[in-house]
Amino acid sequence: MSTASETYSSKYDYIIAGGGLAGLSLAYYLNESGLRNAKILIIDQSVKKENDKTWCFWEAESGKFDQIIQQKWKGVWFHGTREFNRFLPIDEYAYKLIRSENFYQFVLQKLSQNPNITLLQAGVLSFQKLSNQSTEVYTTKGYFEASELVFDSTFRSPYTDTRYNQMLQHFKGWVIETTEPAFDETQPTMFDFRIEQREECRFVYVLPYSKTKALVEYTIFSDNLLPEEEYEKALESYLKTHVKVDKYRIEEVENGVIPMSDEPHIRMPSSGIVRIGTSGGFVKASTGYSFTRTQRFLQKLVSDLEAVGGNGKAFEQSHQTWKKAIYISDWKGFLDSILLDVMLQKRHSSKDIFTCLFSKNRPAQILKFLDEDTSLFEDLAIMNTVPIIPFIKSAFVVIFKKIKYIFR
Ligand SMILES: Cc1cc2nc3c(=O)[nH]c(=O)nc-3n(C[C@H](O)[C@H](O)[C@H](O)COP(=O)(O)OP(=O)(O)OC[C@H]3O[C@@H](n4cnc5c(N)ncnc54)[C@H](O)[C@@H]3O)c2cc1C
Repeated sequence: MSTASETYSSKYDYIIAGGGLAGLSLAYYLNESGLRNAKILIIDQSVKKENDKTWCFWEAESGKFDQIIQQKWKGVWFHGTREFNRFLPIDEYAYKLIRSENFYQFVLQKLSQNPNITLLQAGVLSFQKLSNQSTEVYTTKGYFEASELVFDSTFRSPYTDTRYNQMLQHFKGWVIETTEPAFDETQPTMFDFRIEQREECRFVYVLPYSKTKALVEYTIFSDNLLPEEEYEKALESYLKTHVKVDKYRIEEVENGVIPMSDEPHIRMPSSGIVRIGTSGGFVKASTGYSFTRTQRFLQKLVSDLEAVGGNGKAFEQSHQTWKKAIYISDWKGFLDSILLDVMLQKRHSSKDIFTCLFSKNRPAQILKFLDEDTSLFEDLAIMNTVPIIPFIKSAFVVIFKKIKYIFR
């Protein structure tokens, strides 16, 4: 891998706009595939060295990134309604944590062994289709041409279309170091709902690194953000009330806003451009999780691209549906829309819904469900464990919206 400031040409086979989770994962899988000889340019505005995100996800088997797993747990705490406070074993799964700085370093080190991959630190400004299959990428450091495809993870939808369920997952977290032991490093907390809900879905999660160090994050699912100090007050209060610590040093701060929306995505906004990551709708609408989906979608994308010999035009032809916004989604997308509608319309307390899911089912089954690996029969069995009336109401609303969408 070379840096573009040293040696760069104006033409590449593929250009990856945005070298965050999706962009670097894509480069990683391309580098492992039969397309590893393709000329690839990765453009990102920032130098990916800092820990700007902490990714948690669950996996049943060993994974591609096991070498850089910081923590791994075999169960999680859940504090919900109906006095359900339990440490839940997650059986075949492991709950894993990767710090983004380790992910960036790991992937960039692998890519550095491939002289066909070039990294450019620049801002991506726009894309322009040329007369042939090529697409030109205009950046703060000049023009670059992709003869096959551009993969874009820099686009951010405003998610303002009121016809759809628009919610945000917003959070603030602190990595704190305490003077006295305060955590059990073998037991993370996935959902702690023992905090004021204000008619929203609010919870805290705790990811312990050691007995004296943990990431404690205050998370809200709602349609509006809070002033900065409210997240901080909530964190302080949680640490005092539930972790029972007063003295701690804040080592790192993590903020985020993740879209939770069922607005349809256009995966291929114009010929030659494929959106990936959050831009491509990889975030699961009802949970905000996207690490696992990003890996799955991109492995499939690379294998589809390999199947057509890396040819951008042939790839495009075999993915014509990506050019349309698909709201008449699959069954899993339908379930996401229902859950979003229940939460947004406040048809039932969110903390009680999550409690029902985790207390009335095998927890590993819920993780499988959230990963969209369950069968239709399993989905119906899980749906039978949540308060039925609000879900039926929302199902009718979603079906009506979809019918309206067809006849718009
Ligand atoms: C703080 C945080 C924690 C999260 N934790 C989890 C989690 O635990 N589990 C989970 O499943 N999901 C999590 N997510 C959600 C999701 O996994 C991440 O948002 C993930 O990083 C999305 O990948 P992405 O490639 O779409 O975006 P990013 O990783 O943000 O990558 C986009 C890249 O594009 C670059 N870029 C943007 N605009 C331009 C431009 N104009 N020019 C050049 N470069 C540009 C950015 O610098 C960035 O590197 C988290 C999100 C956040 C924000």
